[in-house]
Amino acid sequence: MRSTRAIINLNAIEHNISIVKQLAPGCKIMAVVKADAYGHGIVQVTSHLSQIDAIAVACMDEAITLRNAGITQPIILLEGFFSDDELAQIIEYNLQTVVHHEAQVIALEKLAQKYATDTTRLDINEVAKPNHPQFQLIVWLKFDSGMHRLGFDDAGFIDAYQRLQGLGFISTINPMSHLACADDIQNPMSQRQIQLFNQVTTNITGERSMANSAGVIAWPESHYQWIRPGIILYGCSPMIGLTGSDHQLIPVMMLASQLFAIKSIKPGDQVGYGSAWTATRETLIGVIAIGYGDGYPRHAKEGTPVSINGKTYPLVGKVSMDMITVDLGEDFSGKIGDEVVLWGDELPVETIAQHADTIPYTLLCGVTSRVKFVWN
Ligand code: PLP
Repeated sequence: MRSTRAIINLNAIEHNISIVKQLAPGCKIMAVVKADAYGHGIVQVTSHLSQIDAIAVACMDEAITLRNAGITQPIILLEGFFSDDELAQIIEYNLQTVVHHEAQVIALEKLAQKYATDTTRLDINEVAKPNHPQFQLIVWLKFDSGMHRLGFDDAGFIDAYQRLQGLGFISTINPMSHLACADDIQNPMSQRQIQLFNQVTTNITGERSMANSAGVIAWPESHYQWIRPGIILYGCSPMIGLTGSDHQLIPVMMLASQLFAIKSIKPGDQVGYGSAWTATRETLIGVIAIGYGDGYPRHAKEGTPVSINGKTYPLVGKVSMDMITVDLGEDFSGKIGDEVVLWGDELPVETIAQHADTIPYTLLCGVTSRVKFVWN
């Protein structure tokens, strides 16, 4: 059987959360598990999270998946809602939502009017998960402090805050914003964003949230009451040039496969599609059962390390859909069937990302369903 596996070490997540708690003492943690928990399995990961205060997902499908799996912790929709139907689902599934756009404020105002006039509203409350008869919604009001992706400018933020405050069923409005350049400690952008966020929220109650993983590590002024770590939970560093172990994090995913062919080649022989690599000496080529069809990056460059029996070997030739080729050298002592680690404890995914001109997030999120997942 093809043994290409992603082995998920759930205990490492617990360890990484303890590191987060040391970095941001006293803060509440909104654990970011969107995109299938960065490719680690949203239900398995979230079911294992105990030392956190809330869960953040991107969209409704992810939230419903968690509720249907029996997850009862607070869940926040980072993208907010897209329609009145989704707003109804927020109530039905007892979710919290980010509000980042005028259209969402209008939809909430419309709902408030409906609540005020609709005598069937208690029926809605019956399907809502909270036990109290009058449903109370917690919203996270997003301020655009400079990323210019989602959120209100200062005037829009204050206006939205005041309008939402007036709606009977919104119990809490928590201000939030998102850092654009927190992974770069030389970049003055984070300080500017923090300053703007402080200014706009001076007279506003509610618990504030700004820090992603890089904010947690590098920008203590961005911690406020709630932090929103994602990538560090999975054991990776968000910081340019660093890896998880630089912060005492433990990688959660190990991507492994096996050596399934060994080929002896002569100087001048070429390997793989496009005959892109040419041997300059006699050597052994190891063929490993993983390719871009499994999520191994197609653009991994010649020399990308692959670990076999604790030793690294360079990738040669192009990455194919189902396999990659490595230069084992002349006196390789391993054998067909040996385990190969593509990334994990012994080979940081950040290193592989660097060799593929990408970021670790894309590699973790990109492991495909053909790979067998094992949760330990
Ligand atoms: N907060 C928001 C709004 C996000 O979109 C994300 C992820 O992109 C995060 C927090 C977590 O970011 P990171 O994985 O870099 O910690």
